[in-house]
Amino acid sequence: MTERSVVRVVKGVPTVDGAGVSVRRTLGSMMLPSLDPFLLLDEIYSDDPKRPLPGFPDHPHRGFETVTYVLAGVVEHRDSRGNHGVLGPGSVQWMTAGRGIIHSEMPAHRDGLVWGFQIWVNLPAKDKMMAPRYQDIAPEDVPVLKLQKGGCVRVIAGDCEGRSGPVQGVVTAPLMMDCQLTENETFSTKIPAGHTAVAYVFSGGAVFGESADVMFAGHLVVFGDGESITVTGASDGGRLLLLAAAPIGEPVVRHGPFVMSSQAELMQAFQDFNNGTLA
Ligand code: MN
Repeated sequence: MTERSVVRVVKGVPTVDGAGVSVRRTLGSMMLPSLDPFLLLDEIYSDDPKRPLPGFPDHPHRGFETVTYVLAGVVEHRDSRGNHGVLGPGSVQWMTAGRGIIHSEMPAHRDGLVWGFQIWVNLPAKDKMMAPRYQDIAPEDVPVLKLQKGGCVRVIAGDCEGRSGPVQGVVTAPLMMDCQLTENETFSTKIPAGHTAVAYVFSGGAVFGESADVMFAGHLVVFGDGESITVTGASDGGRLLLLAAAPIGEPVVRHGPFVMSSQAELMQAFQDFNNGTLA
């Protein structure tokens, strides 16, 4: 099996989004606008409950999927179709916006902390107008692969060592894993050749493949092609998201909350939103 090597490292850029929420952005930043089919990767972190967390009040989406993964605190969501829920620590929401959703996402502290991620995954042109769909995954439904030195891997989407992630039926066949490694602990996994693959280190540090360089929290690593990825925890251990998916290979025309395949489709999205017919 060909081991994938690191071809690029992107440091997260502090960015303000929503109604004034500070996020650390890697994918979707000026440094790396997208990496087919991934469009955005934001980390939200706040350990000061006294600081206001204005959240993401009502806003639309069309043409792609948004993935919310909560580590700490909660995210309350509510949409134009009457859906409502609260995502707690360890839960995942894989939302296919498809033809259109208008929703709010409001993070709140629990035990003094809010910590989580939002990832945007594109849809092929033929699926952009599909009916919206939610996959809400409770923490206990995410299989955990225990590693030998005390670390563990939570398999959210895709397959790893006989475990299948609960997120199913996504057109880009994504792999999403939360890997927690102790010092010098190594984990290897297969990644289909040709798929885009990235890792985002969010705690401690990690070393990838044969490289000697430690990647510390807040860095996104982009892998070249190959069939597997190997990662080793640095001296204090490390925790990272591993993401891979099949590239779509189509034009991406995006603005704000809409990601379409042509300028005409993008105009239509704005028009539908303004006419009240988006969602
Ligand atoms: Mn949203």
